[in-house]
Amino acid sequence: MPVPQRRQLPKGQLLINHQWRDASDGATMPIVDPTTEAVTTEVAKATVDDVNDAVEAAHRAFEQGPWSRMHHEERAKILFRIADLIDERGEEIGLRESMDMGMPYRDFMDIILPHCSGLFRFFAGQAMIGMNGSYRTSYESDVRILTRREPLGVVAAITPFNFPFALTCSKVAPALAAGNTFVHKPASDTPLSALALAQIVLDAGIPEGVYNLVTGPGGSLGDALVKHPLVEKIAFTGSTAVGQNIIRNSADTLKHTTMELGGKAPHIILADANLDTALQAAFWGIFWNKGEVCVAGSRILVERPIYDEFVDRFAKLAQESVLGDPLDPATQIGPIANRKEYEKILGYIESGKETARLAAGGGVKKVNDKGYFIEATVFADAANDIKIAREEIFGPVVPVIPFDGEEDAIRIANDTPYGLAAGIQTSDIRRALRLADRIKAGTIWTDTWHKYHPNAPFGGYKMSGYGREQGAEALESYTQYKTIWVNLAS
Ligand code: NAP
Repeated sequence: MPVPQRRQLPKGQLLINHQWRDASDGATMPIVDPTTEAVTTEVAKATVDDVNDAVEAAHRAFEQGPWSRMHHEERAKILFRIADLIDERGEEIGLRESMDMGMPYRDFMDIILPHCSGLFRFFAGQAMIGMNGSYRTSYESDVRILTRREPLGVVAAITPFNFPFALTCSKVAPALAAGNTFVHKPASDTPLSALALAQIVLDAGIPEGVYNLVTGPGGSLGDALVKHPLVEKIAFTGSTAVGQNIIRNSADTLKHTTMELGGKAPHIILADANLDTALQAAFWGIFWNKGEVCVAGSRILVERPIYDEFVDRFAKLAQESVLGDPLDPATQIGPIANRKEYEKILGYIESGKETARLAAGGGVKKVNDKGYFIEATVFADAANDIKIAREEIFGPVVPVIPFDGEEDAIRIANDTPYGLAAGIQTSDIRRALRLADRIKAGTIWTDTWHKYHPNAPFGGYKMSGYGREQGAEALESYTQYKTIWVNLAS
């Protein structure tokens, strides 16, 4: 696979009402490459006035049409065009994702890119089917009830620093398919792929004002979006604490919200598992994208009879993992997305050293004397109540916890405030289904990890949030029902 060269990227602007423009006060923010620690470009740092302009443009576009009233097959054509342009510009988007958050370029091209264009094709397909209503009877024989589904209006998406492109696409595709208009606020650390997506949406022929992008700090811009009376829905992915804040702040204007929040997924390895498969799933479950993954298998639970063998082999896999430049195709683990996260993760490693046995990693690395690289780190003999097993580390660090039997596994797995994902390794599908029924999580992988599809609903239980992305269920959350009564006797 040819790999693009790291280069200085063009300055990023705001997209408001179909025009690229600077922030109203001219402010910008630097974007740092976590591999080189160098500033790669700067992007506009929007003001609250800019956010208001973006929301008003999106509201005007919704009220005036044509997008919100366009025939659904015409909308679908634009979504199909977006999908094709994503595929065509994949190399550029992948470069931006690697330079922005250290995602291995090969993983982006192999996994993320086809998933993102797939999301647009899937929701274009949903738009082709149309948002059908129903025809019902009432108490009286000559009265009929019609229902129809309508878009909500202005949707604001607030997205996190990890998987910036995929998590944006999973909101844009259903929101546009349903006929909503859109304002996106990406994470301040990783806005580069959002700029590329906004240009793609324009080039695909979206009408004026439908798609808007504001880059800048969540504290002020996010808050302005969340409280704005013309915004109908907040589609949020990020930390549980910020999600709770958004729910509180959106109460006065009673917004629709979907919350994709944090996780601490248990990965249960039963003694009858195929150990080679389980080791691979456990390795990618926690170390893919350097553990900066909401659904990372970040608590590994191993049944006692195979515990020692598993820990030895898993620690060896971690020690042999390849850290390096995310643009190098040999790299398995790139740098942590930014210095703040890097320092936070190192703090968790220190905590782990005091409460469990360090079996692999624990150190840092530099490439050409630079970069926020942390070794794949395994803590064995951990208890489920220590800090590194309770809190979301969001890095390449995992505690391994022994258990005795299925009931013990279920108890430990569910003993967490989160409920985003879980995994079960066993050679007995009946055991897998038995456990899957009782584990409180929105996604359960058996004998695998990190599988995604546009038609597979995705979302959390408990403190991991509510609402679903992907699948027809996601489209539902970007629409509302209208009921129309007809008196046939009049
Ligand atoms: P974060 O700190 O919660 O930030 C997420 C977004 O919210 C950013 O765009 C941020 O802007 C913005 N924001 C910050 N303060 C805000 C406020 N007061 N009002 C409105 N918006 C505000 O999360 P993160 O550190 O970027 O991402 C990591 C977290 O996301 C982890 O907890 C992870 O588990 C979770 N996550 C969940 C899923 C899922 O599908 N469930 C997927 C990926 C990640 P700034 O960047 O400008 O601060």
